[in-house]
Amino acid sequence: MSTSVALLGLGTMGSGMAQNLLKAGFVLTVYNRTAAKAAPLAEAGARVAATPAEAAKGAQIIVSMLADDPASREAWLGADGAIAAAAPGTIVIDSSTVSPDWIAELGAAAEARGLKVLDAPVTGSRTQAAGGQLTFLVGGSADVLGEAMPVLKAMGKEAIHLGPLGSGAKLKLVNNFLCGVQVASLAEGIAWLERSGLDRDKSIAFLNSAAPGSPLFSALSARMTSRDYTVNFLLKLMSKDLQYAHDAAAEAGVELTTAANARALFEQAMAQGHAEQDMASVIEPLRDR
Ligand code: NAP
Repeated sequence: MSTSVALLGLGTMGSGMAQNLLKAGFVLTVYNRTAAKAAPLAEAGARVAATPAEAAKGAQIIVSMLADDPASREAWLGADGAIAAAAPGTIVIDSSTVSPDWIAELGAAAEARGLKVLDAPVTGSRTQAAGGQLTFLVGGSADVLGEAMPVLKAMGKEAIHLGPLGSGAKLKLVNNFLCGVQVASLAEGIAWLERSGLDRDKSIAFLNSAAPGSPLFSALSARMTSRDYTVNFLLKLMSKDLQYAHDAAAEAGVELTTAANARALFEQAMAQGHAEQDMASVIEPLRDR
């Protein structure tokens, strides 16, 4: 009999992940706060639950892909949360980008109910989620990861085991710290190029092939110059990640001054109405100055 999986959260990432679980033949139940987003999944064969608790009933593995700590807390531990409804022995996996402190709290609550817990945030964006090509950064027991591997493999190309619970959350925040500061500095660099008298596109092509080039440089410079802000990664989520990274590093005794500066740019863009656009739109306030 195939494994029953529940997926909580059908945003940019969760929608693609859910489709891949169905394609792999899992019996899937989905939940999303805004119910309308579940319609394409229902059409593809998923059962739609009205609450996280309803989704959790009968599931052997429950995965969440939600915005931030409050959204994850609501889904797992809220009034209709999944933790209280899951049967002992169920594997719960939080794939959202959340704080290590929240993962520790979630782990304690889940283990108190006899559940098995992994944190497994992802790298890759909308395209990789839709194509089943995510990389999972996993914290928790290696044995539990072994049990969950077929489900993760349906959504990703690899799952890297990093250590105890919370390890995935920590590395994900280091990853997004390095991405966030690069996006902010790229925005400043391109805004400068646009006012420099240089040929912008020729200059960007050179820089991308030189030392500053990277996959992020290539993708984000294209979006900044075309001003196509179709969402791959919501601007407001990068601001959140820089805040979580700043706080987690501070707990380890490291002050991320560059994260604070980068976040100020993202906050400025949010104040000017770009929160719900792709993070590439962080360049717009610089163009307006
Ligand atoms: P998204 O499109 O904004 O989706 C967010 C999800 O969280 C939606 O299901 C949303 O429900 C739900 N949500 C938000 N606030 C909630 C609340 N208070 N209570 C209950 N549900 C709530 O985000 P995404 O791009 O899929 O990202 C999901 C997670 O993956 C985030 O932690 C993000 O940082 C991380 N991530 C994103 C990317 C990327 O490229 N997009 C890459 C790697 C990791 P509604 O539909 O009702 O709003």
